[in-house]
Amino acid sequence: MAANPINVLVIEDDLEYASLLHVIIGEVNPDLFQITHIDNLKDALSLLLQQNFDLVLLDLFLPDSTGMDTFFKVNSAIQEIPIVIITGHNDKSAAVRAVREGAQDYLIKDELNVNRLVRILLYAVERHRNLNTLKQQTLVDDLTGLLNRRGFLSLAEKQVRIAKRANWESILLFADLDNLKTINDRFGHSEGDQAIKTISAILKETFRTSDIIGRIGGDEFIVLAIKTSDENVSSITARLERNIKRYNQQIPDYELSLSFGVVHLHPKDDTSLEEAISEADKGLYLHKQRKMKE
Ligand SMILES: [Mg+2]
Repeated sequence: MAANPINVLVIEDDLEYASLLHVIIGEVNPDLFQITHIDNLKDALSLLLQQNFDLVLLDLFLPDSTGMDTFFKVNSAIQEIPIVIITGHNDKSAAVRAVREGAQDYLIKDELNVNRLVRILLYAVERHRNLNTLKQQTLVDDLTGLLNRRGFLSLAEKQVRIAKRANWESILLFADLDNLKTINDRFGHSEGDQAIKTISAILKETFRTSDIIGRIGGDEFIVLAIKTSDENVSSITARLERNIKRYNQQIPDYELSLSFGVVHLHPKDDTSLEEAISEADKGLYLHKQRKMKE
């Protein structure tokens, strides 16, 4: 066990309680868990983007965020890490709701019991690992490792709901790889597969790890990205074009190019994910037509 401790991030503004957790968990088995403590949401979110954790212990009531909102923000930033809620007796109902929305479990502060605590943490990590394996088997595209259509739709639906609640704007990009048939015909299918993998790598590089990227048809790709305040659609598409260009310099025989359509999702709109996809698909079609006339 010592070689691979479980990395736990404790997000809790009650310093006394945080150090109590530290002592208790450490006493059980100092090699089993490695604990990092942060006392506010903002610093916790930025740490989660930089460092890998196996588990988050989350207090819902922090100086800069309260209640379910705290859970939604952490969960949407790090969908692949299990979250266990730390809660006081008086806010137990929020903890129960959080579990319904995908948190692994909750701990009640004044009922802290060492064995129960360790069992909750170990189960949370194990359950989440099993879930991830299952999900990967059915939701991921074999060739590229991106989500397949089913995987994309299921995660994107969830993300759209979270964005609505948190009042975030999102961007949906629907793209297809131009001339895949020509590449297949002239250079063979393995080169066609290579082109698809290259486009996947370009999309992963262009978007953030928290964005949802899928391959939903032979040559069709789709991305749902939470829009950050300093970004607009044209800066994202410019970054995409730049990255494609850079990869093309390394391919001697043909040029990769994407046609795409982009749609803005506003939290106040009632546009469904399907409507947004068909809207973006129309944009893609127009983009392709424009390119053929050039
Ligand atoms: Mg608190």
